[in-house]
Amino acid sequence: MLSIVCTPIGNLKDITLRAIETLQSVDMIACEDTRHTKILLDQYNIKTPTTSFFQHNRFTKADVLLKLMQEGKNVALVSDAGTPGILDPGYNLINLAITHAIPIVFIPGPTAFVHALVVSGKPAHQFYFQGFLPPRSQARRNRLEALKKLECTVIFYESCHRIVSTLEDLQVVCPDKEVVCARELTKKFEEVVRGTPAMLLAHFAQNRPRGEFVLLF
Ligand code: SAM
Repeated sequence: MLSIVCTPIGNLKDITLRAIETLQSVDMIACEDTRHTKILLDQYNIKTPTTSFFQHNRFTKADVLLKLMQEGKNVALVSDAGTPGILDPGYNLINLAITHAIPIVFIPGPTAFVHALVVSGKPAHQFYFQGFLPPRSQARRNRLEALKKLECTVIFYESCHRIVSTLEDLQVVCPDKEVVCARELTKKFEEVVRGTPAMLLAHFAQNRPRGEFVLLF
């Protein structure tokens, strides 16, 4: 069996009893970064062996994990944070397991974009999740031009390195939109800032942008 286990997006207490039980009882935990996941496992005294399953070994390692499951072993899949399969290589293993009729079970938990959507106060009955925008400015602006036409809340992930450039692009593409920037959710410096792109740029000129971000408009 493959158990897809959601883990915290920051606060290590945001884990379910089922997640802990599953991580304790499986034969192997496939992690994006074993060192990162070890912090969580140590917190809950979980001694299960781990193996790395990340972007660059996702095809070869998925085959190894599939073989283990076909031999009757139980594997848990976790990502560095949040829900496996949401913008991480988890998708490849989940898809492979389904193709080979391996039973899968999902242990629900946090996802950064759902948290951000709810606390944003924006309409949550219809939304579009973009994931990451293209890294190059022109492609990003083109994508934002298309996204601003959608009649629903638009959500995307952003890193601290690109947040200012993305806000500058938003200022060009949709200067009047109210943008919500949800940063470091569930962590010590959690912050939700609302305003036009210009207001958010002014905020981050005063406060260096650090950590992980979800943007919504
Ligand atoms: N699997 C994760 C999930 O369920 O949300 C997403 C993984 S994706 C590779 C990482 C991105 O998620 C970060 O760059 C950031 O945009 C967003 N993210 C993850 N944790 C976050 C947090 N605590 N606060 C804000 N954004 C977060």
